[in-house]
Amino acid sequence: MALHAVTGTESWKDDVYTTPLSENALPKFRLPDTENDPWAVYELLRSELLLDGNAAQNLATFCTTWNDEQVHRLMDTSLNKNMIDKDEYPQTAEIERRCVQILADLWNSPEGHATMGCSTTGSSEAAMLGGLALKWRWRERRRKAGKPTDRPNLVCGPVQICWEKFARYFDVELRQVPLEPNATGLQPHQLRSYVDENTIGVVAILGVTFTCDYEPVAELAAELDAIQADTGLDVPIHVDAASGGFVAPFVQPELAWDFRVERVASINSSGHKYGLAPLGVGWIVWRTARMLPDDLVFRVSYLGGDMPTFALNFSRPGGEIIAQYYLLLRLGRDGYRKVHQACADSARYLGERIADLGLFTLLYDGTGGLPGVSYTLAAPADGWTLYDLTEQLRTRGWQVPAYPLPPARQDTVIQRVLVRHGVGRDEVALLADDLGRSVERLRRGAGAPQRPGFHH
Ligand SMILES: *Cc1c(COP(=O)(O)O)cnc(C)c1O
Repeated sequence: MALHAVTGTESWKDDVYTTPLSENALPKFRLPDTENDPWAVYELLRSELLLDGNAAQNLATFCTTWNDEQVHRLMDTSLNKNMIDKDEYPQTAEIERRCVQILADLWNSPEGHATMGCSTTGSSEAAMLGGLALKWRWRERRRKAGKPTDRPNLVCGPVQICWEKFARYFDVELRQVPLEPNATGLQPHQLRSYVDENTIGVVAILGVTFTCDYEPVAELAAELDAIQADTGLDVPIHVDAASGGFVAPFVQPELAWDFRVERVASINSSGHKYGLAPLGVGWIVWRTARMLPDDLVFRVSYLGGDMPTFALNFSRPGGEIIAQYYLLLRLGRDGYRKVHQACADSARYLGERIADLGLFTLLYDGTGGLPGVSYTLAAPADGWTLYDLTEQLRTRGWQVPAYPLPPARQDTVIQRVLVRHGVGRDEVALLADDLGRSVERLRRGAGAPQRPGFHH
């Protein structure tokens, strides 16, 4: 096929779909030779993007899919601000600092304002930084003791992929503890056979990605206390609170999972998940400034002084950070509690509706963890699987993923539904109705030859 040199519309009279640009295939391999009408390009891209899944019905993502008008405007206002230019944009730097201080307080840092923390592009970058600090501190301890530093390991349960990346990119052995039958996360009694003198830390997950429940941070810490009493090994905990960091303080305020647990050295969370900020922001906070080794920190020029930075990126948009601060101010503790409690109530309602179908076993019923549910088939269904159910739901636009649990429960296939800000009770009720209808259709259709129009 010849490469089109696509030209722009010549006249304001042209309908977007009669412009040369729209009458040809869009250039996909070579830069066009000439300019094109911006509105024609805009419209064509906008309609191509309609073919993406509908974010509002994407019940697979933890990430923000609904933002108020003020967030849209602040994002637009900040479009040209680079958060790394602390000298040029001192107020953006100040706003980042305020967010860190507020989160350090929310997560009960004993040092409050004085501790260290920063924004990141998400929990993945935050995990890299948290892991690096653990590795550096372990190496320092080993060097002082005159011991080898070549075989660091990190102990964890069913972690998100970012920890596998951290381990591979930064040369750390990942000791992923297999799930026990009926368990959905790391259990305290499992720790003893995995931690040793080369363990840089244990990752505890507040909001297991696969199932939405919390790992028992305080109980894991207590077991590490017992291990220290017996062996002398002093193993710190990093809490991956990608989702739970912005849920637990509001919905489960009594749960001690944060810096109230003395062994917790650092916490990461995704601002763009239950922090409700638009995509592109995460956070990490250390318990005390001392827990972030000095030689990981770079000093950048800032208003004639210097500003400590720790990041994998350099240039990065400032808008998400500003939007995060807006949300913290806009909602406050009460607002976050109301938003997430409404989601948690809807998740529990969905859990009940799913249980009523009589076919599923809930792995997580929406109580005590994130606003969501996860479930598996109670018994092998007659000729259909959860993957088929996912496909059936998709015909109504719902995106509900099916996937196997991590080892050693990889034979269990589950589905998970997340209830987020912007997903209302009526929507959840409609999903429950469609779930029932889809199951009926699968039961009728299973084994029988497909009728024409079966999928409609
Ligand atoms: C989503 C998630 C991550 C990765 O977070 P991003 O913000 O998408 O980089 C890490 N850990 C857990 C537990 C998560 O749920």
